[in-house]
Amino acid sequence: MSVHKYIDKVMKSTMQSTPGQTEFYQAVEEVLVTLEPILKAEPKYDQQNILERIVIPERQIIFRVTWMDDAGKIQTNIGYRVQFNSAIGPYKGGLRFHPSVNLGIVKFLGFEQIFKNSLTGLPIGGGKGGSNFDPKGKSDGEIMRFCQSFMLELSKYIGETRDVPAGDIGVGGREIGYMFGEYKRLTGNFEGILTGKGLNWGGSLARTEATGFGSVYFAENILNKQKDSLEGKIAAVSGSGNVAIYTIQKLYDMGAKAVTCSDSRGMIYDKNGIDLDTLKLIKETRRDSLEEYVLIRKNATYLPVHSYPEGTNAVWGVPCDVAFPSATQNELNLADMKNLHKNGCKLVCEGANMPTTPDAIEYMLANKMMFGPAKAANAGGVATSQLEMSQNASMSKWSFADVDSKLRTIMKSIFDLSYDTSKEFGDEGNIMMGANIAGFRKVADSMIDQGAV
Ligand code: GLU
Repeated sequence: MSVHKYIDKVMKSTMQSTPGQTEFYQAVEEVLVTLEPILKAEPKYDQQNILERIVIPERQIIFRVTWMDDAGKIQTNIGYRVQFNSAIGPYKGGLRFHPSVNLGIVKFLGFEQIFKNSLTGLPIGGGKGGSNFDPKGKSDGEIMRFCQSFMLELSKYIGETRDVPAGDIGVGGREIGYMFGEYKRLTGNFEGILTGKGLNWGGSLARTEATGFGSVYFAENILNKQKDSLEGKIAAVSGSGNVAIYTIQKLYDMGAKAVTCSDSRGMIYDKNGIDLDTLKLIKETRRDSLEEYVLIRKNATYLPVHSYPEGTNAVWGVPCDVAFPSATQNELNLADMKNLHKNGCKLVCEGANMPTTPDAIEYMLANKMMFGPAKAANAGGVATSQLEMSQNASMSKWSFADVDSKLRTIMKSIFDLSYDTSKEFGDEGNIMMGANIAGFRKVADSMIDQGAV
Protein backbone atom coordinates (compact mmCIF):
# COMPACT_ATOMS: atom_id res chain seq x y z
CA MET A 1 0.00 0.00 0.00
CA SER A 2 1.31 3.51 -0.76
CA VAL A 3 2.20 5.58 2.28
CA HIS A 4 -0.47 8.07 1.32
CA LYS A 5 -3.13 5.38 1.28
CA TYR A 6 -1.87 3.92 4.55
CA ILE A 7 -2.17 7.27 6.35
CA ASP A 8 -5.56 7.87 4.78
CA LYS A 9 -6.82 4.48 5.88
CA VAL A 10 -5.75 5.03 9.50
CA MET A 11 -7.25 8.53 9.53
CA LYS A 12 -10.59 7.23 8.18
CA SER A 13 -10.83 4.33 10.62
CA THR A 14 -9.94 6.65 13.51
CA MET A 15 -12.74 9.02 12.58
CA GLN A 16 -15.19 6.17 12.14
CA SER A 17 -14.43 4.43 15.41
CA THR A 18 -14.22 7.58 17.56
CA PRO A 19 -16.88 10.00 16.27
CA GLY A 20 -16.84 13.67 17.21
CA GLN A 21 -13.27 13.89 18.56
CA THR A 22 -12.24 16.87 16.40
CA GLU A 23 -9.15 17.97 18.33
CA PHE A 24 -7.93 14.38 18.46
CA TYR A 25 -8.18 14.05 14.66
CA GLN A 26 -6.27 17.31 14.30
CA ALA A 27 -3.44 16.02 16.50
CA VAL A 28 -3.32 12.64 14.74
CA GLU A 29 -3.37 14.11 11.26
CA GLU A 30 -0.57 16.54 12.04
CA VAL A 31 1.65 13.69 13.19
CA LEU A 32 0.78 11.11 10.53
CA VAL A 33 1.28 13.49 7.62
CA THR A 34 4.77 14.45 8.79
CA LEU A 35 5.69 10.76 9.19
CA GLU A 36 5.50 10.18 5.43
CA PRO A 37 9.27 10.13 4.83
CA ILE A 38 10.00 7.56 7.54
CA LEU A 39 7.04 5.39 6.55
CA LYS A 40 8.42 5.38 3.00
CA ALA A 41 11.93 4.52 4.14
CA GLU A 42 10.85 1.87 6.66
CA PRO A 43 8.06 -0.45 5.46
CA LYS A 44 8.21 -2.31 8.79
CA TYR A 45 5.86 0.22 10.42
CA ASP A 46 3.13 -0.54 7.88
CA GLN A 47 3.84 -4.28 7.99
CA GLN A 48 3.56 -4.25 11.79
CA ASN A 49 0.40 -2.10 11.80
CA ILE A 50 2.11 0.46 13.99
CA LEU A 51 -0.09 3.42 12.99
CA GLU A 52 -3.27 1.43 13.64
CA ARG A 53 -1.96 0.58 17.09
CA ILE A 54 -0.47 3.93 18.09
CA VAL A 55 -3.71 5.90 17.55
CA ILE A 56 -5.62 3.72 20.03
CA PRO A 57 -5.03 4.32 23.74
CA GLU A 58 -3.97 1.28 25.73
CA ARG A 59 -6.64 2.14 28.28
CA GLN A 60 -9.25 4.90 28.83
CA ILE A 61 -10.78 5.43 32.21
CA ILE A 62 -13.92 7.57 32.56
CA PHE A 63 -15.52 8.08 35.93
CA ARG A 64 -18.07 10.08 37.85
CA VAL A 65 -16.78 12.64 40.33
CA THR A 66 -19.27 13.72 42.97
CA TRP A 67 -18.50 16.41 45.49
CA MET A 68 -20.35 18.72 47.84
CA ASP A 69 -20.39 22.47 47.13
CA ASP A 70 -20.40 25.15 49.83
CA ALA A 71 -24.21 25.27 49.77
CA GLY A 72 -24.34 21.58 50.72
CA LYS A 73 -25.47 20.45 47.28
CA ILE A 74 -23.97 17.38 45.57
CA GLN A 75 -22.36 18.30 42.27
CA THR A 76 -21.23 15.94 39.51
CA ASN A 77 -18.40 16.07 36.99
CA ILE A 78 -16.77 13.63 34.60
CA GLY A 79 -13.20 12.47 35.29
CA TYR A 80 -10.83 11.04 32.67
CA ARG A 81 -7.48 9.32 32.52
CA VAL A 82 -6.28 8.14 29.13
CA GLN A 83 -3.28 5.81 29.41
CA PHE A 84 -2.16 6.13 25.84
CA ASN A 85 1.18 4.43 25.37
CA SER A 86 3.61 2.73 27.75
CA ALA A 87 6.15 1.44 25.22
CA ILE A 88 9.05 3.42 26.67
CA GLY A 89 8.01 4.00 30.29
CA PRO A 90 5.15 4.50 32.74
CA TYR A 91 2.34 6.76 31.52
CA LYS A 92 3.17 10.40 32.19
CA GLY A 93 1.18 13.53 31.52
CA GLY A 94 -0.89 16.20 33.16
CA LEU A 95 -4.45 16.60 34.41
CA ARG A 96 -6.56 19.43 33.02
CA PHE A 97 -9.54 20.87 34.92
CA HIS A 98 -11.53 23.04 32.52
CA PRO A 99 -15.16 23.08 31.35
CA SER A 100 -14.03 22.31 27.77
CA VAL A 101 -12.52 18.94 28.77
CA ASN A 102 -14.04 15.90 27.10
CA LEU A 103 -12.66 12.58 25.86
CA GLY A 104 -11.54 14.06 22.51
CA ILE A 105 -9.54 16.80 24.24
CA VAL A 106 -7.90 14.38 26.67
CA LYS A 107 -7.05 12.06 23.77
CA PHE A 108 -5.46 14.82 21.70
CA LEU A 109 -3.34 15.81 24.68
CA GLY A 110 -2.46 12.20 25.50
CA PHE A 111 -1.52 11.45 21.89
CA GLU A 112 0.82 14.48 21.73
CA GLN A 113 2.29 13.49 25.07
CA ILE A 114 3.55 10.15 23.65
CA PHE A 115 5.85 11.88 21.16
CA LYS A 116 6.77 14.80 23.42
CA ASN A 117 7.84 12.47 26.21
CA SER A 118 9.80 10.32 23.78
CA LEU A 119 11.65 13.39 22.49
CA THR A 120 12.91 14.25 25.97
CA GLY A 121 15.10 11.13 25.79
CA LEU A 122 13.75 10.07 29.19
CA PRO A 123 11.88 6.83 29.98
CA ILE A 124 8.29 8.11 30.13
CA GLY A 125 5.21 6.91 28.24
CA GLY A 126 2.24 9.08 27.29
CA GLY A 127 -0.98 9.74 29.18
CA LYS A 128 -3.32 12.58 30.07
CA GLY A 129 -6.39 13.15 32.16
CA GLY A 130 -8.66 15.72 33.69
CA SER A 131 -12.20 16.78 34.23
CA ASN A 132 -14.82 19.19 32.93
CA PHE A 133 -14.78 20.73 36.43
CA ASP A 134 -14.45 24.53 36.27
CA PRO A 135 -12.19 25.82 39.07
CA LYS A 136 -13.16 29.42 38.28
CA GLY A 137 -15.14 31.02 41.10
CA LYS A 138 -14.87 27.96 43.35
CA SER A 139 -13.88 28.31 46.98
CA ASP A 140 -10.77 26.65 48.36
CA GLY A 141 -12.96 24.12 50.18
CA GLU A 142 -14.82 23.25 46.98
CA ILE A 143 -11.55 22.79 45.10
CA MET A 144 -10.30 20.50 47.88
CA ARG A 145 -13.43 18.37 47.99
CA PHE A 146 -13.42 18.04 44.22
CA CYS A 147 -9.73 17.03 44.16
CA GLN A 148 -10.28 14.46 46.91
CA SER A 149 -13.20 12.90 45.13
CA PHE A 150 -11.30 12.88 41.84
CA MET A 151 -8.35 11.10 43.49
CA LEU A 152 -10.62 8.60 45.22
CA GLU A 153 -11.22 7.05 41.81
CA LEU A 154 -7.93 7.93 40.07
CA SER A 155 -5.88 6.33 42.86
CA LYS A 156 -6.92 2.90 41.60
CA TYR A 157 -5.06 3.37 38.33
CA ILE A 158 -1.86 5.28 39.10
CA GLY A 159 1.49 4.38 40.65
CA GLU A 160 5.18 5.31 40.62
CA THR A 161 5.97 2.71 37.96
CA ARG A 162 2.55 2.72 36.35
CA ASP A 163 1.15 6.18 35.72
CA VAL A 164 2.32 9.50 37.18
CA PRO A 165 -0.05 12.44 36.53
CA ALA A 166 0.87 16.11 36.97
CA GLY A 167 -0.69 19.52 36.36
CA ASP A 168 -2.01 21.21 33.23
CA ILE A 169 -4.58 23.98 32.75
CA GLY A 170 -6.51 24.48 36.02
CA VAL A 171 -4.25 22.14 37.99
CA GLY A 172 -1.33 23.72 39.86
CA GLY A 173 0.43 23.28 43.18
CA ARG A 174 -2.74 23.66 45.25
CA GLU A 175 -4.66 20.95 43.38
CA ILE A 176 -1.66 18.58 43.29
CA GLY A 177 -1.38 19.04 47.07
CA TYR A 178 -5.02 18.12 47.73
CA MET A 179 -4.80 15.11 45.42
CA PHE A 180 -1.51 13.92 46.93
CA GLY A 181 -2.92 14.22 50.44
CA GLU A 182 -5.96 12.18 49.49
CA TYR A 183 -3.86 9.46 47.83
CA LYS A 184 -1.74 9.16 50.96
CA ARG A 185 -4.82 8.94 53.14
CA LEU A 186 -6.32 6.24 50.94
CA THR A 187 -3.23 4.06 50.57
CA GLY A 188 -1.07 4.96 53.56
CA ASN A 189 1.90 5.32 51.22
CA PHE A 190 4.10 8.37 50.71
CA GLU A 191 5.00 7.80 47.05
CA GLY A 192 5.93 9.90 44.04
CA ILE A 193 2.62 9.27 42.27
CA LEU A 194 2.24 12.86 41.11
CA THR A 195 4.71 15.50 39.95
CA GLY A 196 4.54 19.22 40.50
CA LYS A 197 4.47 18.55 44.24
CA GLY A 198 5.22 21.15 46.90
CA LEU A 199 8.90 21.74 47.67
CA ASN A 200 8.55 20.47 51.26
CA TRP A 201 7.05 17.12 50.26
CA GLY A 202 8.87 15.71 47.27
CA GLY A 203 8.57 18.44 44.64
CA SER A 204 11.48 19.46 42.47
CA LEU A 205 12.95 22.92 42.39
CA ALA A 206 12.40 24.58 39.00
CA ARG A 207 9.41 22.38 38.08
CA THR A 208 7.05 25.37 38.26
CA GLU A 209 9.30 27.38 35.96
CA ALA A 210 10.29 24.51 33.66
CA THR A 211 7.76 24.67 30.80
CA GLY A 212 8.19 28.41 30.29
CA PHE A 213 11.97 28.36 30.74
CA GLY A 214 12.24 25.36 28.42
CA SER A 215 10.20 27.03 25.71
CA VAL A 216 12.50 30.07 25.76
CA TYR A 217 15.62 27.85 25.73
CA PHE A 218 14.16 26.10 22.70
CA ALA A 219 13.55 29.42 20.90
CA GLU A 220 17.14 30.45 21.68
CA ASN A 221 18.39 27.21 20.09
CA ILE A 222 16.39 27.87 16.93
CA LEU A 223 17.71 31.43 16.70
CA ASN A 224 21.29 30.41 17.46
CA LYS A 225 21.18 28.05 14.50
CA GLN A 226 20.46 31.16 12.36
CA LYS A 227 23.32 33.03 14.06
CA ASP A 228 20.75 35.11 15.91
CA SER A 229 19.56 35.28 19.53
CA LEU A 230 16.72 36.56 21.72
CA GLU A 231 18.74 39.56 22.82
CA GLY A 232 16.78 42.75 22.12
CA LYS A 233 13.73 40.93 20.72
CA ILE A 234 10.12 41.99 21.34
CA ALA A 235 7.84 39.07 22.23
CA ALA A 236 4.08 38.59 22.11
CA VAL A 237 3.03 36.04 24.74
CA SER A 238 -0.48 34.69 25.32
CA GLY A 239 -1.80 33.24 28.56
CA SER A 240 -1.04 34.16 32.16
CA GLY A 241 -0.64 30.75 33.79
CA ASN A 242 2.58 29.00 34.73
CA VAL A 243 3.79 28.62 31.18
CA ALA A 244 3.24 32.26 30.20
CA ILE A 245 4.59 33.74 33.44
CA TYR A 246 7.88 31.83 33.32
CA THR A 247 8.22 32.35 29.58
CA ILE A 248 8.05 36.09 30.24
CA GLN A 249 10.54 35.81 33.12
CA LYS A 250 13.08 33.86 31.06
CA LEU A 251 12.65 36.21 28.09
CA TYR A 252 13.83 39.05 30.33
CA ASP A 253 16.80 36.92 31.47
CA MET A 254 17.76 36.46 27.83
CA GLY A 255 17.58 40.19 27.08
CA ALA A 256 14.20 40.10 25.33
CA LYS A 257 10.98 41.90 26.30
CA ALA A 258 7.45 40.47 26.46
CA VAL A 259 4.77 43.06 25.73
CA THR A 260 1.52 41.05 25.98
CA CYS A 261 -0.25 38.44 28.09
CA SER A 262 -3.87 37.31 28.30
CA ASP A 263 -6.52 35.37 30.16
CA SER A 264 -9.93 34.04 29.15
CA ARG A 265 -11.47 37.51 29.51
CA GLY A 266 -8.97 39.78 27.77
CA MET A 267 -5.42 40.81 27.00
CA ILE A 268 -2.82 43.27 28.22
CA TYR A 269 -0.54 45.27 25.95
CA ASP A 270 2.30 46.86 27.89
CA LYS A 271 4.72 48.48 25.45
CA ASN A 272 7.32 48.98 28.16
CA GLY A 273 7.32 45.29 28.93
CA ILE A 274 4.96 43.20 31.08
CA ASP A 275 5.71 43.84 34.74
CA LEU A 276 6.37 40.42 36.26
CA ASP A 277 5.68 41.35 39.87
CA THR A 278 2.30 42.80 38.95
CA LEU A 279 1.43 39.77 36.82
CA LYS A 280 2.46 37.33 39.57
CA LEU A 281 0.55 39.30 42.20
CA ILE A 282 -2.65 39.20 40.16
CA LYS A 283 -2.43 35.63 38.90
CA GLU A 284 -0.43 33.67 41.49
CA THR A 285 -1.41 35.45 44.69
CA ARG A 286 -4.83 36.94 44.08
CA ARG A 287 -6.06 34.55 41.32
CA ASP A 288 -7.77 37.59 39.81
CA SER A 289 -8.64 38.92 36.35
CA LEU A 290 -5.95 40.60 34.21
CA GLU A 291 -8.16 43.67 34.12
CA GLU A 292 -6.56 44.53 37.48
CA TYR A 293 -3.19 44.96 35.76
CA VAL A 294 -4.03 48.39 34.32
CA LEU A 295 -5.01 49.68 37.75
CA ILE A 296 -1.40 49.17 38.80
CA ARG A 297 0.40 49.78 35.50
CA LYS A 298 -1.36 52.87 34.24
CA ASN A 299 0.40 53.06 30.86
CA ALA A 300 -0.65 49.59 29.77
CA THR A 301 -3.86 48.86 27.89
CA TYR A 302 -6.47 46.17 28.57
CA LEU A 303 -8.65 44.86 25.78
CA PRO A 304 -11.57 42.57 26.68
CA VAL A 305 -12.15 39.54 24.41
CA HIS A 306 -15.42 40.95 23.04
CA SER A 307 -13.50 43.91 21.56
CA TYR A 308 -10.91 41.82 19.70
CA PRO A 309 -11.05 42.40 15.93
CA GLU A 310 -13.49 39.81 14.51
CA GLY A 311 -12.04 36.33 14.08
CA THR A 312 -8.68 37.15 15.67
CA ASN A 313 -6.83 36.97 18.96
CA ALA A 314 -5.63 40.52 19.72
CA VAL A 315 -2.45 39.18 21.38
CA TRP A 316 -1.18 38.40 17.87
CA GLY A 317 -2.04 41.84 16.52
CA VAL A 318 0.90 43.77 18.03
CA PRO A 319 4.31 44.44 16.47
CA CYS A 320 6.76 41.77 17.64
CA ASP A 321 9.79 39.70 16.57
CA VAL A 322 8.81 36.45 18.27
CA ALA A 323 5.52 34.91 19.46
CA PHE A 324 4.96 32.45 22.30
CA PRO A 325 1.41 31.03 22.28
CA SER A 326 1.21 29.77 25.86
CA ALA A 327 -2.50 29.58 26.64
CA THR A 328 -4.44 26.76 24.96
CA GLN A 329 -5.22 24.80 21.78
CA ASN A 330 -6.11 26.58 18.54
CA GLU A 331 -5.52 30.06 19.95
CA LEU A 332 -3.55 31.22 16.91
CA ASN A 333 -5.41 30.93 13.59
CA LEU A 334 -4.62 31.81 9.98
CA ALA A 335 -5.74 35.44 10.34
CA ASP A 336 -3.54 35.77 13.45
CA MET A 337 -0.56 34.27 11.64
CA LYS A 338 -1.03 36.71 8.75
CA ASN A 339 -1.07 39.55 11.29
CA LEU A 340 2.10 38.29 12.94
CA HIS A 341 3.84 37.97 9.59
CA LYS A 342 2.74 41.44 8.51
CA ASN A 343 3.96 42.90 11.80
CA GLY A 344 7.45 41.44 11.40
CA CYS A 345 7.29 38.31 13.56
CA LYS A 346 9.99 35.79 12.57
CA LEU A 347 9.47 32.93 15.02
CA VAL A 348 6.52 31.17 16.69
CA CYS A 349 7.43 28.97 19.65
CA GLU A 350 4.58 26.93 21.16
CA GLY A 351 4.39 26.87 24.97
CA ALA A 352 0.81 25.53 24.95
CA ASN A 353 -0.28 22.22 23.43
CA MET A 354 -1.42 22.52 19.77
CA PRO A 355 -2.01 26.30 19.96
CA THR A 356 -1.57 26.90 16.22
CA THR A 357 -4.23 25.80 13.74
CA PRO A 358 -3.09 23.62 10.78
CA ASP A 359 -3.73 26.32 8.15
CA ALA A 360 -1.75 28.82 10.24
CA ILE A 361 1.17 26.37 10.45
CA GLU A 362 1.04 25.92 6.69
CA TYR A 363 1.11 29.69 6.15
CA MET A 364 3.97 30.13 8.60
CA LEU A 365 6.14 27.49 6.93
CA ALA A 366 5.30 28.73 3.42
CA ASN A 367 6.43 32.22 4.49
CA LYS A 368 9.70 30.95 5.93
CA MET A 369 8.90 31.90 9.49
CA MET A 370 10.71 29.80 12.13
CA PHE A 371 8.70 27.34 14.19
CA GLY A 372 9.17 25.67 17.58
CA PRO A 373 6.42 23.01 17.62
CA ALA A 374 4.78 22.23 20.98
CA LYS A 375 5.95 18.63 21.30
CA ALA A 376 9.52 19.85 21.25
CA ALA A 377 9.27 23.41 22.55
CA ASN A 378 7.12 22.75 25.63
CA ALA A 379 8.67 19.40 26.59
CA GLY A 380 10.69 21.07 29.35
CA GLY A 381 7.77 20.74 31.77
CA VAL A 382 7.35 17.03 31.50
CA ALA A 383 11.12 16.51 31.30
CA THR A 384 11.49 18.25 34.64
CA SER A 385 8.63 16.14 35.99
CA GLN A 386 10.77 13.14 35.16
CA LEU A 387 13.66 14.77 37.03
CA GLU A 388 11.27 15.04 39.99
CA MET A 389 10.51 11.31 39.66
CA SER A 390 14.25 10.58 39.65
CA GLN A 391 14.77 12.62 42.81
CA ASN A 392 11.83 10.85 44.49
CA ALA A 393 13.12 7.41 43.52
CA SER A 394 16.59 8.13 44.85
CA MET A 395 15.29 10.09 47.85
CA SER A 396 17.44 13.04 46.92
CA LYS A 397 16.97 16.75 46.30
CA TRP A 398 18.81 18.71 43.65
CA SER A 399 19.47 22.46 43.67
CA PHE A 400 17.59 24.91 41.45
CA ALA A 401 20.73 25.52 39.40
CA ASP A 402 21.26 21.80 38.96
CA VAL A 403 17.72 21.16 37.68
CA ASP A 404 17.76 24.28 35.50
CA SER A 405 21.03 23.27 33.88
CA LYS A 406 19.72 19.75 33.22
CA LEU A 407 16.60 21.32 31.67
CA ARG A 408 18.72 23.53 29.44
CA THR A 409 20.75 20.53 28.28
CA ILE A 410 17.57 18.54 27.58
CA MET A 411 16.08 21.37 25.50
CA LYS A 412 19.28 21.59 23.47
CA SER A 413 19.28 17.85 22.87
CA ILE A 414 15.60 17.94 21.80
CA PHE A 415 16.47 20.69 19.33
CA ASP A 416 19.53 18.85 18.02
CA LEU A 417 17.62 15.59 17.65
CA SER A 418 14.74 17.30 15.83
CA TYR A 419 17.11 19.23 13.58
CA ASP A 420 19.28 16.22 12.75
CA THR A 421 16.22 14.09 12.04
CA SER A 422 14.81 16.74 9.69
CA LYS A 423 18.12 16.62 7.82
CA GLU A 424 18.17 12.81 7.75
CA PHE A 425 14.75 12.81 6.11
CA GLY A 426 15.54 15.42 3.47
CA ASP A 427 13.91 18.59 4.82
CA GLU A 428 16.64 20.26 6.85
CA GLY A 429 15.32 22.77 9.36
CA ASN A 430 11.73 21.47 9.36
CA ILE A 431 11.68 21.06 13.14
CA MET A 432 8.04 19.95 13.23
CA MET A 433 8.76 17.04 10.92
CA GLY A 434 12.04 16.20 12.65
CA ALA A 435 10.44 16.24 16.10
CA ASN A 436 7.48 14.09 15.07
CA ILE A 437 9.65 11.52 13.32
CA ALA A 438 12.23 11.32 16.12
CA GLY A 439 9.51 11.02 18.79
CA PHE A 440 7.67 8.40 16.76
CA ARG A 441 10.69 6.27 15.84
CA LYS A 442 11.70 5.51 19.42
CA VAL A 443 8.17 4.57 20.49
CA ALA A 444 7.37 2.56 17.35
CA ASP A 445 10.63 0.59 17.51
CA SER A 446 10.00 -0.18 21.18
CA MET A 447 6.52 -1.43 20.34
CA ILE A 448 7.99 -3.71 17.69
CA ASP A 449 10.57 -5.04 20.18
CA GLN A 450 7.82 -5.82 22.68
CA GLY A 451 5.63 -7.90 20.36
CA ALA A 452 1.85 -7.63 20.19
CA VAL A 453 1.54 -4.54 22.39
N1 GLU B 1 0.86 19.12 31.29
C1 GLU B 1 2.25 19.25 30.94
C2 GLU B 1 2.43 18.91 29.48
O1 GLU B 1 1.60 19.25 28.67
C3 GLU B 1 3.19 18.53 31.90
C4 GLU B 1 2.96 17.07 32.09
C5 GLU B 1 3.81 16.45 33.19
O2 GLU B 1 4.61 17.14 33.80
O3 GLU B 1 3.64 15.25 33.39
O4 GLU B 1 3.42 18.38 29.06
